[in-house]
Amino acid sequence: MKRIYTRLKNKLAPLGYSDDDLVFGSGPESCDVMLIGEAPGKDEVAAKKPFVGKAGKNLDEFLKITGLSRDDIYITNVVKFRPYIESENGRRRNRPPKREEIELCADCLKDEIGEVAPKLIVTLGNTALCAVTGEAKIGEMHGKPAISPFGCEVFPLYHPASIIYRKGLLSVYESDLEKLEQLLKERSII
Ligand code: URA
Repeated sequence: MKRIYTRLKNKLAPLGYSDDDLVFGSGPESCDVMLIGEAPGKDEVAAKKPFVGKAGKNLDEFLKITGLSRDDIYITNVVKFRPYIESENGRRRNRPPKREEIELCADCLKDEIGEVAPKLIVTLGNTALCAVTGEAKIGEMHGKPAISPFGCEVFPLYHPASIIYRKGLLSVYESDLEKLEQLLKERSII
């Protein structure tokens, strides 16, 4: 994995991204389940680890429902740096990644998937769903297994941060997690 991440570092360095800006994946480098989010936020950049902030806390709660443990899965993001908007007073706010930012990191994601070789990819939100399946239709595809052109099965979930903004999604999310648990059992992953 180091080789894969060094390649991306070298690609991003001339664009002004330093080591301090980048958050790579974490977890066992060969495992059955890979979780893919959108991009790191402020907390993740500070910790240099994906999903440690508010969305990460939600994720931990959700993982409990499925019986998966963070120690058993590889977690990464589509984009490996924080996309943000800076206001006049210098405050930074997260924003969704732009197409060109997703494209910059696309080879890295493809190589990570090749290295981990998971049985199942769980995508969190539309950006990850689109990066892995080519379709950004989370409203239609959530909770239903699909096949990725990368050759493995994909289970699309809403992004755990979306529950923070849309409380009404919680019951949908919980029902999707139950379906995920069932799928993990059927695939003998848990
Ligand atoms: N949201 C993401 O998509 N990824 C993170 O690492 C944190 C929040």
